[in-house]
Amino acid sequence: MKIAVAGAGVVGLASAAGFAELGHTAICVDIDKEKIASLQRGVVPYYEPGLQELTLRNMAAGRMRFGTGIHEIPADTEVVIMAVGTPSDPDGDLSLTAFWAAADELADWIEKCACPAVVVAVKSTVPVGTADSLEEKLRMRLPPSESGRVDTASVPEFMREGSAVKDFFEPARLIIGSASAQTAERLTSLHAGLPGRVIFTDRRSAELSKLAANAFLAVKISFSNEVAVLCEQIGADYNDVAGVLGSDPRIGPHFLGAGLGFGGSCLPKDTRALVRFAERSGAPQTLVEAAIHVNRQRTERIAHKLEEALDNPGASTIALLGLAFKAGTDDMREAPSVRLMEELMRRFPGMELRAYDPASTEAARGIVPGQVRICRSAEEALRGADGAILVTEWPEFGKIRAIDFRNWMKRPIIWDGRNLLDADELNAHGVRCIGTGRPILRRIAFDENS
Ligand code: NAD
Repeated sequence: MKIAVAGAGVVGLASAAGFAELGHTAICVDIDKEKIASLQRGVVPYYEPGLQELTLRNMAAGRMRFGTGIHEIPADTEVVIMAVGTPSDPDGDLSLTAFWAAADELADWIEKCACPAVVVAVKSTVPVGTADSLEEKLRMRLPPSESGRVDTASVPEFMREGSAVKDFFEPARLIIGSASAQTAERLTSLHAGLPGRVIFTDRRSAELSKLAANAFLAVKISFSNEVAVLCEQIGADYNDVAGVLGSDPRIGPHFLGAGLGFGGSCLPKDTRALVRFAERSGAPQTLVEAAIHVNRQRTERIAHKLEEALDNPGASTIALLGLAFKAGTDDMREAPSVRLMEELMRRFPGMELRAYDPASTEAARGIVPGQVRICRSAEEALRGADGAILVTEWPEFGKIRAIDFRNWMKRPIIWDGRNLLDADELNAHGVRCIGTGRPILRRIAFDENS
């Protein structure tokens, strides 16, 4: 099948390369000329495991190429996938500025190229009703007798940054929201070869499923974080509590980790969008609102813990291990690290902050407050520090030995915001490791000679 993908972000590129690998012919277009120039040279301009190799392989096989806009899409394309960004607008709604700009270009393209029949499948996360409006917009540009040349569908995307390629090839399920049997059939053929149950539904239900799924995950995370705070207060261990919760098949083990809260390009914006949309629709989502509220408190909580443990936090040097919103990506969008740095600087003027991330050093520039020193290694960040906060669960941080923490740091105390480290092991070797959801360590007396 001949397909086109609008948007060469993680979702667009992984989808284009993935469908090419399945044997389809794909063109991926983006208005970001630098991004396209880089991709045409065979270089994926962001960190996403496996995507570079997948892209190169399919370019070499002649199944994948790039273009600088929708106008470059060939006229015989059967499916156009919309994967442009839909960030939050200042009110918390999903901004559809890029989406409708792309839709305008698509309308020009459909009108001019007289393509015989095209399905426009929306993968971007959008407010409910967007695929309906898109269809109306595109059909209005065609003479009534030809309006059937275009049909839209909602195929919400659930891939995760850091495992986008794996998620493309091993989806838990495929959602096809369509009003037409032929469109549903065409999209089923497009996905042929992928495992996972196909769920057919209407466009609006498909669009809502995506927002509801992310909101549910956010609620699960915030619930875990609130129980973790309770554990800290009463001296219980959240890791054990989470183990018990997760072993119940009705609950499941995922998204139960306590930590610095959710961030990234999806959960924060999609939860806000659902709340806004639900408010307008007269069905407030109070649980989701509460999850957002709890999430905001996570960075205050760790700042509070620092205050409890350090004599003079404002005169301390603190190392942040990790900046990206999660391991396996360099994405800094709505990363908890940024909220944390802002909170620490607000609460403790004078605190020296250093940060290191294995992947997002470049992405962090311009996002991280200027006062924060970006380091080239964990050792550089930790040397002489009065404390460290583990922000992102990069495996390399789990490999730092107790002796290294002790040798490098002035005071080997670590707040593990992801429960990555073996706190018992580190504590046994003279490193104070304070996990999340474990009893709060109050004022620490260090034996400077130990
Ligand atoms: P992104 O912002 O990284 O990339 C979007 C790309 O679209 C950009 O490169 C931009 O230049 C391009 N673009 C904008 N206007 C265009 C136009 N007129 N024509 C062609 N390209 C255009 O976005 P992303 O992270 O890949 O996400 C895309 C969508 O998928 C969003 O709606 C997002 O919410 C959703 N989603 C993202 C993820 C994720 O993990 N990132 C997962 C599931 C769903």
